[in-house]
Amino acid sequence: MLVEYEKGVLLALHLGRLKERGTLTPAQISVGKLNSVREAIRIAGLARSILGGDGVTNEFPVMRHLANLESVRTYEGTDEIHQLVIGRALTGLSAF
Ligand SMILES: Cc1cc2nc3c(=O)[nH]c(=O)nc-3n(C[C@H](O)[C@H](O)[C@H](O)COP(=O)(O)OP(=O)(O)OC[C@H]3O[C@@H](n4cnc5c(N)ncnc54)[C@H](O)[C@@H]3O)c2cc1C
Repeated sequence: MLVEYEKGVLLALHLGRLKERGTLTPAQISVGKLNSVREAIRIAGLARSILGGDGVTNEFPVMRHLANLESVRTYEGTDEIHQLVIGRALTGLSAF
């Protein structure tokens, strides 16, 4: 969980620096958003699993984070659309 969190922070830092340089591309933004949200959901899912029954009660706010992250997964661009953007950048072909 910590390794993926740290990788996400480093990726965001890298993308922020590219943006400051004026060289950030839409596909790179998709890589960052797709990875950050996907890993955050995976981390919240692991936390929910570790907590067992407490993971689904109000005792800990894990499900609140999971539900919030699922809406982020939609409004920051769905996985499918990010993958289409990345695929177009890799191949030059638009599969939308
Ligand atoms: C909490 C919340 C806040 C929001 N805030 C804003 C906001 O501030 N401003 C704003 O403009 N919008 C906002 N939205 C809307 C959001 O941007 C859209 O919900 C999002 O882009 C997905 O569009 P859609 O709901 O029309 O789903 P659809 O486009 O109908 O997609 C449904 C599913 O089909 C998949 N899909 C769609 N097209 C393709 C394709 N060509 N190939 C493969 N799969 C495909 C999608 O990945 C998704 O899984 C918000 C949404 C939510 C839930």
